[in-house]
Amino acid sequence: MENKGVLIIYTGGTIGMMNDPITGSLCPFSFEEIAKEVPEINEFDFPIETLIFENLIDSSNIKPTVWIKLCEIIKEKYNQYDGFVILHGTDTMAYTASALSFMIDGLNKPIVLTGSQLPIGKIRTDGKENLITAIEIAGSKENNQAIVPEVCLYFGEKLYRGNRTTKFTAEHFNAFSSHNYPYLAKVGIHIHYNKAAIKDINVKNDKISICTNFNTNIAILKIFPGINESQVDAIIGIKDLKAIIIETYGAGNAPTEQWFIDKMKEAISKGIIVYNVTQCQAGRVDMGRYETSLELLNIGVMSGFDTTIEAAVTKLMFLLGKYNKIEDIKKDLKVSLKGEISHCNSNF
Ligand code: ASP
Repeated sequence: MENKGVLIIYTGGTIGMMNDPITGSLCPFSFEEIAKEVPEINEFDFPIETLIFENLIDSSNIKPTVWIKLCEIIKEKYNQYDGFVILHGTDTMAYTASALSFMIDGLNKPIVLTGSQLPIGKIRTDGKENLITAIEIAGSKENNQAIVPEVCLYFGEKLYRGNRTTKFTAEHFNAFSSHNYPYLAKVGIHIHYNKAAIKDINVKNDKISICTNFNTNIAILKIFPGINESQVDAIIGIKDLKAIIIETYGAGNAPTEQWFIDKMKEAISKGIIVYNVTQCQAGRVDMGRYETSLELLNIGVMSGFDTTIEAAVTKLMFLLGKYNKIEDIKKDLKVSLKGEISHCNSNF
């Protein structure tokens, strides 16, 4: 069995940060620090190589250009490795995982994002375990095929489907959750893969294709008690706006006041996609279940089902970049492209 090994791509994030001697703030540092603290990475029985971003970033500075760069690297090096580990800050890791899942087609190998809550140089760091296990998962094969051939996120003893994750704590080591989809693996003494939840391998495929166009002309409108017309107007009036995610209550509910419905209608009539995503972390949008969402359904608001906000943002930017016709975008919004929503079957 050929072992091509794993490529670690280091983008920045807390895992490799140190305190700036002048400001005292944490900022990204070199990969040497990581390698020095985790000599165990030399003990794997497969090769491990690293690719270090020239400008290491705190993930709060992530932009689609970084996603494009990551995809281009993975495409170029796809046949040289069995899997990829992306070291990334936790703040936007769920966005990056979601974006990559949409951008890459034909994936048959693991792309595992990980990082840490405490820098790797700190005594109680969670970075060591996260990094070592992420490498192990990225390099794991069964019958000469990857066990987890998808974009996933490893953190705090759990492996998740990347586009189902949300960062839910800035304090604890289990920083991520995936409320609407089961974990792909649970890690203790052994790694227990949840095979029923993991995507199947595609027909033998040694190439991936990537789609790298993004359109970031979207906005998020979070509904809250007391929201007023001028606030909604300001958002609908944004120049070149192509889509609004309305973050609604519960199962997709919003105020039934006529002015609000009229504003949503106005947006839709201008060709803006209005996409309904719940503010709840778990559960799904079910427009029509309550009177407070029925009118949204009737005027053409689209359901986000049980998508995370991270997957919703990246899916919209991706589809707006990929297609010119609003019908094509709407068609793909209704289906699960990469396992990001549960309500329907998909070819993923
Ligand atoms: N601000 C950091 C980042 O996202 C936080 C982290 O890595 O945990 O890059």
